[in-house]
Amino acid sequence: MRRSYKRVLVTGGAGFVGSHLCERLLNENCAVLCVDNFYTGTRENIQHLLGNPNFEVIRHDVCFPLYVEVDEIYNLACPASPIHYQFDPVQTTKTSVSGAINMLGLAKRLRAKILLSSTSEVYGDPDIHPQPESYWGHVNPIGTRACYDEGKRCAETLFFDYYRQHKLRIKVARIFNTYGPRTHPNDGRVVSSFIMQALKADPITIFGDGGQTRSFCYVSDLVDGLIRLMDSDDGFTGPVNIGNSGEFTIKELAEIVIKMTESNSTITYRPKPPDDPRVRRPDIALAQSKLGWQPKIPLAEGLVPTIQYFRDLITHQND
Ligand code: NAD
Ligand code: UDP
Repeated sequence: MRRSYKRVLVTGGAGFVGSHLCERLLNENCAVLCVDNFYTGTRENIQHLLGNPNFEVIRHDVCFPLYVEVDEIYNLACPASPIHYQFDPVQTTKTSVSGAINMLGLAKRLRAKILLSSTSEVYGDPDIHPQPESYWGHVNPIGTRACYDEGKRCAETLFFDYYRQHKLRIKVARIFNTYGPRTHPNDGRVVSSFIMQALKADPITIFGDGGQTRSFCYVSDLVDGLIRLMDSDDGFTGPVNIGNSGEFTIKELAEIVIKMTESNSTITYRPKPPDDPRVRRPDIALAQSKLGWQPKIPLAEGLVPTIQYFRDLITHQND
């Protein structure tokens, strides 16, 4: 789809999801301003976009105010993997909360539409399965995941207060586990970790007994959902779950990755991290009905380009 010309700000645009979103928006005739402090994002992720005259990059931390002129804002800036968001938890909360305040302030001045990349982590270790948007969640507010979970919950609160108080046009996406090329190879997320371990024939590290479940969404499906949400009627704010409802145990994922990479890796078991959700699967009925969206790429299909990406990365590292 070629969209009418728009100036779009993507915070966290040099990250995994952000770089795919920037690419897609550029292909759809938008001028894209990527704002990133390169905490977990990299220049390599956006290298291929730098020659595009409609693409601009600013190194900036969203914890500080930003003065630019745009029509739409996708506020993605925030580390997403447990290893990265727990490395500097205070900064994680600041990024979610101060970042939201700054970007909402910018949207208010510009009367721009603004989207938040919230997360399934707002549901915590859920008592309801699968998780609908109406579920308020089961989050430990003082645990090691809280900097991320509560940071995002507070960001959602801010979005809805700006909506009620200042009549801002807001969109809140609750993203479930997403994978694909450009996931950081060392960020400890399960799909990238298992693939890297399998390709290096290292033991696959399962935390706990591997019976916990996740639902894995391929990145192009997620980007499609985010853009549909941004383009949806002004009356629709979300929150809306964006994720794939195919649910796998972590042990099943390990076995699939071993098979698809034809690896000799064995499986090794490590202690389960605190507050690690036992189950996770999105109820996507709302996205289906309001956005006409549902994921198209099943896990076995999305793993093919993802595995290839990490294969190439390892080859280049060895060059
Ligand atoms: P990522 O770590 O690859 O990308 C995050 C980007 O934000 C990076 O480029 C990083 O440098 C940047 N960033 C971090 N703090 C910043 C700051 N203070 N100022 C400016 N930039 C900053 O993670 P991702 O997987 O691409 O996640 C993108 C967004 O989607 C995040 O908001 C995350 O919470 C959300 N999300 C992702 C997933 C997933 O499975 N990938 C799931 C749920 C939610
Ligand atoms: N996990 C694992 N081994 C790893 C990395 C993760 O068993 O090397 C597990 C983790 O404990 C969790 C699931 O895989 O149960 C998903 O972890 P990830 O960090 O990808 O995302 P989360 O959904 O927990 O934020």
